[in-house]
Amino acid sequence: MARVALVTGGQRGIGAAISEGLQAAGRKVVASYAGNDAAAAAFTDRTGIPCVKFDVSDFDATQAAVKAIEEAHGPIEILVNNAGITRDGMMRKLTRQMWDEVIDTNLGSCYNLCKAVWDGMAARKFGRIVNIGSVNGQAGQLGQVNYAAAKSGIHGFTKALAQEGARNQITVNAIAPGYVDTEMVRAVPADVLEKIIARIPRGRLGTAEDIARGVVFLTADEADFVTGSTLSINGGQHMY
Ligand code: NDP
Repeated sequence: MARVALVTGGQRGIGAAISEGLQAAGRKVVASYAGNDAAAAAFTDRTGIPCVKFDVSDFDATQAAVKAIEEAHGPIEILVNNAGITRDGMMRKLTRQMWDEVIDTNLGSCYNLCKAVWDGMAARKFGRIVNIGSVNGQAGQLGQVNYAAAKSGIHGFTKALAQEGARNQITVNAIAPGYVDTEMVRAVPADVLEKIIARIPRGRLGTAEDIARGVVFLTADEADFVTGSTLSINGGQHMY
């Protein structure tokens, strides 16, 4: 039986490539999203992967959605916490709302989703969880106090939960992507982006598929001995 994989934010950007990568690896994939119905419908039409709408920052909505997904498709054995947002601004202009939205969506969601699948994975003695962090959570970034805090939190969250999961064959890992050519990065002003690319040793932006390949590796049954790790997929940028 194909293992069921849930990819949050899995219908566009990096998440779409992750969903398709896992599908190609033989997983039964469900993608979640927040509100972009058009992207979700187009993605399902193209791939056959079902999309489910719920807000990952809402604890109760997440518990209900995971329950419904498991009833429809079977127990979730692979979870990819990919959904994320930016609300950038220098400290002077960083409002409490911008802080809360990013912390709740990018970090709170990891708690909400992991909480929903954890007991089932432990009872079945198998689980693969991958949390999508960021090179900006490793190194910080100007104007991203909220985002860097959330992503840095993901890296600590991953190492702590990996220790809890180890006895039940649940692995918990993180990926720290660098700048990937998606809508999120295309929103960065061209002159700033040029400077960013100049600082990437590999000399290019990443692709969504670069990140998806890492997820497929970390969620393989054979990746049993890899847990609590952060895989840097950023063209070498984490070294600077
Ligand atoms: P996109 O903006 O392209 O897509 C974001 C996805 O997350 C969408 O599917 C969106 O759904 C979903 N989402 C956002 N908020 C919520 C919410 N509250 N509830 C449910 N789903 C939500 O992002 P990227 O593909 O660029 O990024 C994916 C992940 O990779 C993020 O965690 C990001 O921080 C991380 N990352 C990205 C980098 C990059 O260069 N792009 C670099 C490093 C890390 P909908 O379409 O409905 O809005």
